[in-house]
Amino acid sequence: MAIGVSLNCLAQKKMKPEETEVWSPVPPVVTPGTTNAQPPSDALILFDGRDLSKWESVNKPGSPAEWYVHDGVVTVNKKSGNIQTRESFMDYQLHIEWQIPKEIEGSSQLRGNSGLFLASTGKGDAGYEIQILDNYNNRTYSNGQAGSVYKQYAPLVNANKKPGEWQTYDVIWTAPRFNTDGSLKDSARVTVIFNGVLVQHNVSLKGETVYIGYPEYHAHGPSPIKLQAHGDDSKPISFRNIWVRRL
Ligand code: MG
Repeated sequence: MAIGVSLNCLAQKKMKPEETEVWSPVPPVVTPGTTNAQPPSDALILFDGRDLSKWESVNKPGSPAEWYVHDGVVTVNKKSGNIQTRESFMDYQLHIEWQIPKEIEGSSQLRGNSGLFLASTGKGDAGYEIQILDNYNNRTYSNGQAGSVYKQYAPLVNANKKPGEWQTYDVIWTAPRFNTDGSLKDSARVTVIFNGVLVQHNVSLKGETVYIGYPEYHAHGPSPIKLQAHGDDSKPISFRNIWVRRL
C-alpha cells in the first residue's frame, strides 16, 4: 500500500497540468432566471455583510481573515491568501453569492478565478474545490470552469451570468467517511445548483481536487469551509450572503 502510494506520487510529479484538463464536451449555455435566497431561520450565518468574525486566515490559522469588507460585501485580498471558517463541518447545505468585477480582464483560468473548498484539509488549496471563475464567454477546460468539481466533473451546463451580476451557488455536501485505519469508507458527494440551475447532481468525488495529477483521498474529519485567493492578475472578486445548515 505504502509503496503503491509513493510510486503513484512520483509518477504524478512528472505530469503536466494539461494532462488532466478535459476540453470536450463543452457544457451547453443556459440563461439563468433571477434568484433570491434569504437565509432560512435555522441557518448559521457565515457572512452577513458586516464582518469576517466567522473566518480566519488559512496561512495563519487563528488570525483574522484579512479580506476587505465594504458595502455589505467581502472582496478577496490576494496578498493575504485563502480564508476559512473558524468552525468545522461534516455534511451541510450551503448558500454563497459571488460577483466577478464588471471590468474583469484575462482569459481561461486567469479571469476572476476563486474557489469554494467544501472541506479544507490543509494549507493552500488542499481540499475539495468547486471552481469559481468567469465563464461567461470565456472558454477554459470544461472540468475547470465555474460549477465544476475542479478537474473531476464538468458542470452539466454553463449557467454563468455576466461579470458584474451577482451569482449563487447552493451546495449540498456529504463529507467523505474514513475507516479507523485511514482508508476510504464512503466517497464525498456533492450537488451544486448554480444560479438556480443544477450543475452537479450528487456526484461522487474521486478524492481531493488537485491542479496537477490525479485525485486521492487523505483521511480527515470535520473541516472548515475555505474560499480561494487565486494568484492571478485579474481583479479580485467579491462575496456576500454566505450561510450554512448542518445536516
Ligand atoms: Mg479556483
